[in-house]
Amino acid sequence: KLDFAGKIAQKLGAPVKDETVHAVDGVDLVVRKGEVVGLVGESGCGKSTLGRMVAGIMPASAGEIFWHGKKLDTLTGAEARNAKLQTQMIFQDPYASLNPRMRVADIVGEAPLVHGLTRRGEWDAYVDNQMRRAGLDPAFKRRYPHQFSGGQRQRIGIARALAVQPEFIVCDEAVAALDVSIQAQILNLFMELRQELNLTYLFISHDLGVVEHLSDRVVIMYLGRVVEEAPAEEIFARANHPYTQALLAEVPRIEARKKSFAGIKGEIPSPLNPPSGCHFHPRCPHAFARCKLERPALREIAPGHKSACHLNDAA
Ligand code: SF4
Ligand code: MG
Repeated sequence: KLDFAGKIAQKLGAPVKDETVHAVDGVDLVVRKGEVVGLVGESGCGKSTLGRMVAGIMPASAGEIFWHGKKLDTLTGAEARNAKLQTQMIFQDPYASLNPRMRVADIVGEAPLVHGLTRRGEWDAYVDNQMRRAGLDPAFKRRYPHQFSGGQRQRIGIARALAVQPEFIVCDEAVAALDVSIQAQILNLFMELRQELNLTYLFISHDLGVVEHLSDRVVIMYLGRVVEEAPAEEIFARANHPYTQALLAEVPRIEARKKSFAGIKGEIPSPLNPPSGCHFHPRCPHAFARCKLERPALREIAPGHKSACHLNDAA
């Protein structure tokens, strides 16, 4: 169970400086070993904040994070270092996180050397392997990040993350900045690596279409809360929550759904001052009196399928 109430200054812009926002509000998120969980919502819904908390790079103001059954903040020494190394994050803009003055070989190979995963004598071969695995030609390892295309830079970011032999990867909009054809290549790479290395992923995206093919389970967030959670095929076949249905309607490739659901109307309300009751009520085509007054609980409506909508009580 996680909460994050923080002061968000730069991200939301000057007018809201220094106000407190509940970016993540009582969220319960479980990622099982070997599983791919897609975490989906519009920008500002708290999914990146949640991803950072899960990856252990941002503290939760309340709640706890467990790593292999142990509370993350109680781990010390080698165990803490290990948990940190075992969880790697891949971001939307690899360029921003790649040191422009470092050669690719050093970007990819520095951490494994520091952490004793390879030795000087084997280092070159180790780096070559990491690059090849991410679909990069080791012949280019002496080049700098700016000499690569966007897709290749994302591959460098992936090679760097995998070079420390993690088991859990948190991808935050990892393909959002790429052209559609390149997106598909990178998504395929993620899936190949999953098979090859038995990885666990938390795959964060604003686009339900992006997580469709790779997720085992999908979690939908709206303004800091989880509104629906289900196995992926269940989400795409039987979305329950009106917000999920609206998101599905916006996946351009899925024509049939486009006809049966209306798209999302209205602006995303400010997370600083979320609507009362069900946060989605001002935009929901099915809202009724109770929705304004009462927060709907996230509850199981079918095995493994949870939704937070008052409509489920009437049924
Ligand atoms: Fe819509 Fe009400 Fe359900 Fe919220 S609780 S999603 S407003 S019907
Ligand atoms: Mg984000």
